[in-house]
Amino acid sequence: MLDFLGDLRRTHTCGALRLADAGQKAVLMGWVNRRRDLGNLLFIDIRDRTGITQIVFDRDGNPALHKKAGELRNEYVIAAIGTVKKRDPNTINKNIPTGEIELIAQELRILNESRQPPFLPGDAVLPNEEMRLKYRYIDLRREAMQRNIELRHKITIAIRECLSSQGFFEIETPFMTRSTPEGARDYLVPSRVQPGSFYALPQSPQLFKQILMISGFDKYFQIVRCFRDEDLRADRQPEFTQIDLEMSYPQPHRVWEVVEGFLKAAFKVAGYGIKAPFPRMTYDEAIRLYGSDKPDMRLPAMTDVRGAFTAENLQSLAINPKLPVVAIRIPRVGELSRKERDEIKPMLTARGNPKLFEDFKRLEKNFPDAAAKIREKSSAESDDLIVLVAGNGKPAEHKSEGGVKPEVKQHDHAVYTAAGLLRLALAQKYSDRHGAFKRIGDPAHDFRFLWVTDFPMFEWDEEGQRWAAAHHPFTSPHEHDMDKLESDPAAVRALAYDCVLNGTELGSGSIRIHRQDIQRKIFHALGMTEEEARSRFGFFLEALEYGTPPHGGIALGLDRIVMILAEADSLREVIPFPKTARAVDLMVDAPTPVSEAQLKELGIQVKK
Ligand code: ASP
Repeated sequence: MLDFLGDLRRTHTCGALRLADAGQKAVLMGWVNRRRDLGNLLFIDIRDRTGITQIVFDRDGNPALHKKAGELRNEYVIAAIGTVKKRDPNTINKNIPTGEIELIAQELRILNESRQPPFLPGDAVLPNEEMRLKYRYIDLRREAMQRNIELRHKITIAIRECLSSQGFFEIETPFMTRSTPEGARDYLVPSRVQPGSFYALPQSPQLFKQILMISGFDKYFQIVRCFRDEDLRADRQPEFTQIDLEMSYPQPHRVWEVVEGFLKAAFKVAGYGIKAPFPRMTYDEAIRLYGSDKPDMRLPAMTDVRGAFTAENLQSLAINPKLPVVAIRIPRVGELSRKERDEIKPMLTARGNPKLFEDFKRLEKNFPDAAAKIREKSSAESDDLIVLVAGNGKPAEHKSEGGVKPEVKQHDHAVYTAAGLLRLALAQKYSDRHGAFKRIGDPAHDFRFLWVTDFPMFEWDEEGQRWAAAHHPFTSPHEHDMDKLESDPAAVRALAYDCVLNGTELGSGSIRIHRQDIQRKIFHALGMTEEEARSRFGFFLEALEYGTPPHGGIALGLDRIVMILAEADSLREVIPFPKTARAVDLMVDAPTPVSEAQLKELGIQVKK
C-alpha cells in the first residue's frame, strides 16, 4: 500500500500555482485537506505550508487512477503528478490564491496514510484547547498556526539582523547555572555528581550578560529562553523567550534607541510602520495620570479635579481634602442605567479606602458648579462616562505601597492606583462603546508605545517586612539619590525603565551598578548581610572589582510581541509547544514521575 517517492521530485508548492503556470506539468506533495466525491469526478484539495491546490481525478480520463484516489482519506500524505489547467470561469474559487487553476492528475502516490485525526486542520470550528494541545502536531497544521509560527520566525530574524547590523554579538549563556534573582521561584536541576546540589535554570541571563560587559564584549544580545516557576496567568508561560541585550557605556536613551530600532524592524515584517522615538513619561507622571506604571494611552488620562470643589463641597461629600480627587473619563459610553451604575461599585478595589462617585448626574444636580468645572477640566463630551475616585476621610495604612517617591505620597498613590484599576476595568467593560481598542489600520492609533522612566529603586515587601528591589538588585540608583539609600529608601529613584505598549509591559531594563562598593551598599539596603551577599553573589562582587565598565540593558518578551502582532489572544497561540495554566505539556505529558533508579542516582527521595 505504501508507495515510495522513488525518483519523484517536488516541482511546485501547493499554494504557489497561478494562472501563468497553466499547461505546465507539476508534482505536488502534501496532505489531503479535503475530498469531494461527485461520482465521476473526485476533487482532492492538497495542502502544504504554502496553501492549497485542487486536484481533479476524472473517471472517464483514467479509471484506475480515479479508483486509487478513491482510497484517499483526510490527512493522507500524497504526491500528485499532473498538468496545471485553467479552471472554467464558473468554477473559479476567489477565496484562495490558486483558485483560478487546478491540477489534472496523471499519477498519484500515497506516501503515507493517516488515522482519522481527532479534528481536521481545515475545520471551521476549533476543538477545545486541551484537544489542540494534546494533538499539537495536528493543531500546528492549521493555517492560523502556520501563519503565527511564520510570523514569529520573521520577527525573530528581523530583530537578529537589526541588532547584528549595529555590532551586537549574539552570545549564548548557560541554562544550567545558579539562581539568578528576577523575583520568581527557580526551576531546579539536581546534580548527580554532587548529590544534594542543584543547578537553577536561569530566570534571565542577567548576571552573565553583565559579566560579558566586564569581559569586553561591549554589545551583547540573545534571543533566549528564560524559566520562572510562577503561578501562571493567561499571559505567562513557565518558559518564555526574551530579547535580551546589554551595552557598555550607554545612557538610557541609547538603550531606548536600540529597542525602538528593532521594534520598528519587527513591526515592519508584520506590515506596520511605527514611528520612533516613543513618548516618555516618568513613573510619577504615569501614576498621577493613569494610576498605573504601564499606562494604556488609547483612552484619556485621568484628571485631578480636587480644585473644582469648594471646601464646603468636599466636607459635605466626606472627601478628604488632602488627597486627590480623580476624574476618570471613558468616551462615548452614553448614559448608564441604575443597574449599570451599581455594577461599577464592586469594580473599585478597597485598597487605601477610596470613595467612589459613579452617579455624575446626581453630582451635577447637587453641585452644579463643581460638575461644570470637572467637565471642563477633563474635556468631557456629553456622552462620556465620568466617574470620580477620591480619598476617604481616614486613609488606611498600607505600607505595601512603599517605594513610592515623595512626589507621589503614599496615600495619594493609593487613590491614583485604585482609580487606575477602575479606569481599566471600565475601559474593558465598555470597549464596544468607546471603540478605542479596535484596530483601525493606523499604527499611530493602534500601537501606543511609551517609555516609563525613573522607577522607584525599592518597594516594600509586606511578607518579608523589608525593602526589596523594584527591578532587580543590580539596577543603579539615581546619582542624586545615593545619600538617601539608608535614610529614606522610598525616595530613591532608579535608572530603570519599562517599554510599554497599549497598557502591557513589553520589557524592563536599567543602567546597572558597575562599582563594587555601591553594589555592596544596595545589598545592604536590601537587608542582606555581608555574609549572605557573599554567598549568593560573591563571584559577581569579585568580578566587579576587575575593571567593570559602566553598562546597561533591557529585556523584552518576544512571545508577547508576536502575540500582539499576530492579533492572538493568548501566548499559547504563538508558542509552538506551550504549557497549560497548570504548567503541563499535554502532548508529551510532562512533568511525570521518574523511576526509583533515577531518583536514587540523584540522591533524591520523594515524600509520599
Ligand atoms: N533581566 C531583566 C529581566 O528579565 C531585564 C534587564 O534588566 O535587562 O527583567
